[in-house]
Amino acid sequence: MSDRRCAKPLCSQAAAATVTLDYEGSTLAIGPLAPDYAAEGYDLCAEHARRLTPSHGWQVMRHVELSDDA
Ligand SMILES: [Zn+2]
Repeated sequence: MSDRRCAKPLCSQAAAATVTLDYEGSTLAIGPLAPDYAAEGYDLCAEHARRLTPSHGWQVMRHVELSDDA
């Protein structure tokens, strides 16, 4: 179990995915919740992970399907 929470301000949902950043490749990877807290990334709830849009020039790689009924 974990009490990790979404990293978005004002959001208190439980974390459902971990986002990791690859600055060299300008890639943002959304994957399953990492077992260890990732220094290079952050956790998001299912809703925010789904809505996440990258900054200009960045690509998003989604490694998990996040259902809408969370
Ligand atoms: Zn959230």
